[in-house]
Amino acid sequence: MSRVTDLLHSIPSDPLTGAISVPIYQTSTYVQEAPGVHKGFDYSRTNNPTRATLEKLIAGLEHGESAAAFSSGLAAIDAVVKLLKSGDEVLAVDDIYGGAFRLYTHIYEKFGVKVNYVDTSDIANVVEAVTPATKLIWLETPTNPTLKISDIEAIARIAKANGALFCVDNTFASPVLQNPLLLDADIVVHSATKYLAGHSDLIAGIVVCKTKELGDRIKFIQNATGAILGPFDSWLVIRGLETLHLRVHQHCRNAQKVAEYLEQHPGVKKVFYPGLPSHTNHEVAKRQSKGFGGVVSFVLEEEMIEAAKQFVTSTQYFKLAESLGGVKSLLCHPAEMTHKSIPAEVRRASGVSDGLIRLSVGLEEAEDLIKDLEQALEKVTIKQSLAVNA
Ligand SMILES: *Cc1c(COP(=O)(O)O)cnc(C)c1O
Repeated sequence: MSRVTDLLHSIPSDPLTGAISVPIYQTSTYVQEAPGVHKGFDYSRTNNPTRATLEKLIAGLEHGESAAAFSSGLAAIDAVVKLLKSGDEVLAVDDIYGGAFRLYTHIYEKFGVKVNYVDTSDIANVVEAVTPATKLIWLETPTNPTLKISDIEAIARIAKANGALFCVDNTFASPVLQNPLLLDADIVVHSATKYLAGHSDLIAGIVVCKTKELGDRIKFIQNATGAILGPFDSWLVIRGLETLHLRVHQHCRNAQKVAEYLEQHPGVKKVFYPGLPSHTNHEVAKRQSKGFGGVVSFVLEEEMIEAAKQFVTSTQYFKLAESLGGVKSLLCHPAEMTHKSIPAEVRRASGVSDGLIRLSVGLEEAEDLIKDLEQALEKVTIKQSLAVNA
């Protein structure tokens, strides 16, 4: 469903009343005519009409056979890991979402699931690291916060050849820009908290599977473990999807302008954005996605914790907060926020330097956002020159 018209008109109106908005079925159970005789719904952990509508829409957007909506992105990731058993190994992108790293390390290692991290942006690393014990390849592209890009199709081939499942966390790209299932991935997960819902007002996750067989296994895990998305939040995500295409394209346009502005600024050492020709895998990003997303990271010329702190507390429109993908611009300082729990040397080696700042570029006017960044950069530069003169 890459056309907006198709998406909008696949959101059903209510057959009972004609209501054009999907009804919120706020119910736990469903009255049965006789034991086991019902209208397809028996208990809301197993299935709920509002959630089912959302799942069908997302499956369509990602070109999958089935989808399951979870109470968070991490619950969605957790359900995929539960496809594995003790002794299985995971090969994962090294610049992985911190919460996924914590889940793998602190929950699954003790159950005997081992994870190897490699820089998947270079295919040679994947070829070298994959072993017969690798049962799942875990990819994010673009990654967080250094916006690394990996070749989805090439990794899918490696996964196939080794009989491993291949899952892509597509949160940063959204289905508007990138459809990993069409590039031969088996599973896509999303933190729907971000672009899908789009308004920074809920936590949700999605798993989409390419085949019905895999989808049924995920639904079984979901019903058995219980981390479902409630009817109201399902409804909010549906509402978000109605403007997903519009929002994502505008996020991309704004982010491109912001990235180009930052790249020429003397107070900025390096910019990470797949839409810049200077990005290592710009060509791969161009080939496999229709746009480069709304997240831009950059390193201050003054590569110090203090300078970054000064910067992130000097902006007016970019609000200091974790998360991304909402209509309002956000910024964060990974070294002191999302990546604080990682030892400094390990963090720096993975590219998350002390002066790295991540922007979630929102839907404000690009000129306003650029002015905001400009005045904050000036403050850092002035402070720095005062320090030099002192
Ligand atoms: C936020 C995020 C998650 C986790 O999702 P929650 O909804 O916060 O549980 C997973 N992957 C990526 C890439 C994310 O940005």
